[in-house]
Order: sequence, then structure tokens, then C-alpha cells
Amino acid sequence: MSKHAYVTLVTNEDYAMGALALVRSLRLTQTDADLVVMHTGGAPAQALKPLAALGARLVPAELLPTSDAFNERHQRARLHANAPFTKGNKPSFHTPLDNFAKLRLWQLTEYERVVFIDADAVVVRNIDRLFGYPEFSAAPNVYENLADFHRLNSGVFVAAPSEATFVAMLARLDQPEAFWRRTDQTFLQAHFPHWHGLPVFFNMLQYVWFNLPELWDWKSISVVHYQYEKPWERNHPKAAELGPLIDLWHAYHSGEGVPNIDLLANPVS
Ligand code: UDP
Ligand code: MN
Repeated sequence: MSKHAYVTLVTNEDYAMGALALVRSLRLTQTDADLVVMHTGGAPAQALKPLAALGARLVPAELLPTSDAFNERHQRARLHANAPFTKGNKPSFHTPLDNFAKLRLWQLTEYERVVFIDADAVVVRNIDRLFGYPEFSAAPNVYENLADFHRLNSGVFVAAPSEATFVAMLARLDQPEAFWRRTDQTFLQAHFPHWHGLPVFFNMLQYVWFNLPELWDWKSISVVHYQYEKPWERNHPKAAELGPLIDLWHAYHSGEGVPNIDLLANPVS
């Protein structure tokens, strides 16, 4: 076992599909780190099998033991009503409450450092040097304008597992009336107000492709993150605009026709 691991989370069949593309992409980077898929009972065994076949370690994880009132406040319809998503659409298979189970990675104390990556991302070149970065490192949530640099995106981050940290997080998380409008992301930003900033290229959000095309540079990008609509959703509203990125995801998912990233064409700005 390595002292380093890439970790993702899967709570249903759709995200297991995402994780398959992610795990395949990580394998192609020739990393020595362990690949860990934390999964809840919502993920069917059949959908996890191909992940195990690629050598991923499947680690059962429960949703967090949050209170009924907390769960009620973060229930999908309620969260969407109280903190509407105005920039893009969340797929129907996205359950906000499930996001908080990411925090379980702090319980993976068999590792010194972990890099968490959302199941809706692919790693397009080796990023093992992130294991030498401090907790808590994350890239800014950039996909529209300069104001985005104030916030982090929790789709890629570096953490140091520790049971004490996990316990401290649970205590902060589930306080009376606490409402984390963007779930784990808002929480992690509050818990680590002095987060270390990674370059945006470690977590390139797909909307940059059409909103900030001058920022897109395949030669610098390490991780492509399909925030909002997922590349495996059929005919989503942004599918035409995001065609080249969706094709890339399908290449990783199938393992066929993965291109040389350095040779891909940047969007026209
Ligand atoms: N996730 C999951 N099931 C859910 C919601 C989220 O397994 O119902 C996990 C999965 O790893 C996913 C991550 O939590 O990639 C965060 O959700 P998502 O990527 O959909 O959020 P976005 O990047 O669009 O903000
Ligand atoms: Mn994501």
C-alpha cells in the first residue's frame, strides 16, 4: 500500500460511471498512488466491479450521521428552492446531502496525504506532486469572472487524513440552523478559511470552455471537471457547446481513442 491515495466518492450508479472514466484516466498517468473509491450502499455492486478490475480499492462509506433537521435543510428540493442554481443545471441523480460524505476521507488514516477528486472529473496528466502540497489546497471556483477567485471548488483538493480533524468537522457541520448552500464546498471553505490556492489548471471547470476561452490551455491543464451537467447525460442543454470535452470524457470512459492532450485544439476566443 502507498502512503498516498487519490480518493473519489460514489453514491449511485451514475457517479460510478463517472468514477470509471476518472480511474481509467488516473491509470493512464502511471501514478504509484492508491486509487480509492468510497461508496455508499446506493452504488450497485455491478457498477463498482469495473472499478475493482482497474485495481481501485473499494471502501464502503456511510453517509454522515447528521441530524434529521440538518438532512431536512439540505434535502434536494429544499436546497434548490433556498439557494437556486442560476448558472447551470444539476442532474436529477445529484443528491446534495450525499456530497457531505466526502468528509469521510479524513478517516482514511492509513494514508499520509490524499488528493480528493470528484467522480465527474478526468485527470489528463500526472499530478502526483500534489501529494507534497499542504492541507488544505484547492483551486478557485473559476468559470465566469474574476469574482470567482474568492471561492474554492471542492472537486479537487489535498488533505491529510486525521480522525481528530474528522471529529472537529462533524461538530462544526451540524450546528443548529447551519445551512451550507453549496454543501461540502461551502463547508470546507469555512473550515479552512486560509486554504492554499492551486492553479486553476488543477481543476479546470468545463464552463471555462465557453465563458472564459482565453483561460483554456490544454498544455497547462491537468484535470478537467464537468461541473453542473454531466458528460454522460443524454442531450443536456450545453452538450452542443461542450462537444469536444464530452468526446474526451467518452474516450476515457471507454478507454478507446484517448488523445494526446498536448495536441488538442483550444477553444476559439
Ligand atoms: N456525489 C455522489 N452522489 C451524489 C452527489 C454527489 O456520489 O448524489 C459525489 C460525486 O463524487 C460527485 C461529487 O460528490 O462528483 C460532487 O457532486 P457533483 O460533482 O455532481 O457536483 P458539481 O461538481 O456539479 O458541483
Ligand atoms: Mn463535480
